[in-house]
Amino acid sequence: MTRRIIIVGGGAAGTLIAISLAQLTTNSTEIVIFEPRARLGEGVAYSTNDDRHLLNVPAAGMSALVDDVRHFARWSNVDGDSFVPRRTYARYLRETLESQVQANPHVSLRHVQRPAHRITTSPLSVTAGEEDVQGDGVVIALGNSSPTCPDWVNVLDRSRVVRDPWEPDALERIPRGAHVLCIGTGLTFVDVAITLVAKSCRVTATSRHGLLPAIHAPTPSLPGLSPLFTSPRDVMRWLRHQPDWRAAFAALRPETQRIWRSFDDVGQRQFLRHARRYWDVHRHRMAPEVARLLEDHIARGRVRIRRGSAQDLAESHEFDFVVLCTGPDDSAALSRPPLASLITAGQARPGPHGMGVDTDADTGQLLTATGDLVPRVYAIGTLRRGTLWESTAIPEIRSEARRLAALLVV
Ligand SMILES: Cc1cc2nc3c(=O)[nH]c(=O)nc-3n(C[C@H](O)[C@H](O)[C@H](O)COP(=O)(O)OP(=O)(O)OC[C@H]3O[C@@H](n4cnc5c(N)ncnc54)[C@H](O)[C@@H]3O)c2cc1C
Repeated sequence: MTRRIIIVGGGAAGTLIAISLAQLTTNSTEIVIFEPRARLGEGVAYSTNDDRHLLNVPAAGMSALVDDVRHFARWSNVDGDSFVPRRTYARYLRETLESQVQANPHVSLRHVQRPAHRITTSPLSVTAGEEDVQGDGVVIALGNSSPTCPDWVNVLDRSRVVRDPWEPDALERIPRGAHVLCIGTGLTFVDVAITLVAKSCRVTATSRHGLLPAIHAPTPSLPGLSPLFTSPRDVMRWLRHQPDWRAAFAALRPETQRIWRSFDDVGQRQFLRHARRYWDVHRHRMAPEVARLLEDHIARGRVRIRRGSAQDLAESHEFDFVVLCTGPDDSAALSRPPLASLITAGQARPGPHGMGVDTDADTGQLLTATGDLVPRVYAIGTLRRGTLWESTAIPEIRSEARRLAALLVV
């Protein structure tokens, strides 16, 4: 009998789980991916058409294959320290999936090009429009929610606000030469600024602290991590006392999920309140080429960074357009239709601190409203941020995908 595994969302995480399934299964298996985009593997991060948007992880960290970490660098014919255009990565994921499916005679793949709007657990099925597919396992890989939208944005003239710069062609409606305000100074702003300056726009970005993401640089490696951290304060103290903070972050990375899980609710809250900003700026870094381009734009006055109230600036009418670069709204995940249907049925609940969806920490299996395991339904990637904290980038997602595929194929 053929086993059917349904994947909801065919971005990077959905494609990575499909790759792992195709690698591991030795029984007849049909993989069905619900993904509204025409091409798998693109999602929010890798669908950009702008070749100046580079990966923010060096090629050595971006392999789709847990057991062959140089695979992506070899495929793209670059050395491991290079930063490759992000849209190339979508092609890599697709080609890797195709070759793994072709190599395994037990596997077939079907892409249903529609957004799923309902998941039921009994029977286990996913519905998109008229199409209802029953399966033996469901993996939810919906990725990031749209950016956080402060309430005051709702009173601005809608025609001059870009709420989601990650939507395909979102910046197309900003005309050449426009004066644009970006709310937020993180990696999304960097992408937006680079694209808009290329159309002769002037860009001002604002955030409370005006901090830009740090820059990647070659780092010495630290020996394995030995300190025991009992609180977020311990972690931050340790980080601040390391001679090379990049090396310290690299040493911390494989341990981050374990450390996050070792904090109790109060500890996690303290981290989110006091350490998150410092963490985000240092952990999510720009490629050096991107940083040089941005620095040049700043030096030439094409891009300005301001600290302070975004609302005052946005309401000042000094700007033709306002673009939300606030980062994903982790608390909005459950209002997305396939998850909302599970919430309504009591088959899902919000993740810790309202981030994403609550899952078993080891497997990614969903938890019901009362905390029981939902049979054969799993989440992967960004949706697990509350449970794992570090669950948004490829190195972690591919490991999650491998572990989950191993469970699904037995
Ligand atoms: C701008 C940006 C750049 C990044 N750069 C990097 C990087 O260089 N390196 C790195 O490691 N990480 C990077 N990341 C982190 C990124 O989150 C992950 O690498 C990866 O893209 C996450 O994959 P995902 O599948 O969870 O989300 P996505 O790739 O966004 O996939 C989610 C998919 O779900 C689909 N979907 C939505 N609703 C439905 C529905 N109802 N039914 C079916 N499908 C649906 C969407 O169309 C989408 O294809 C970046 C993130 C962003 C936002």
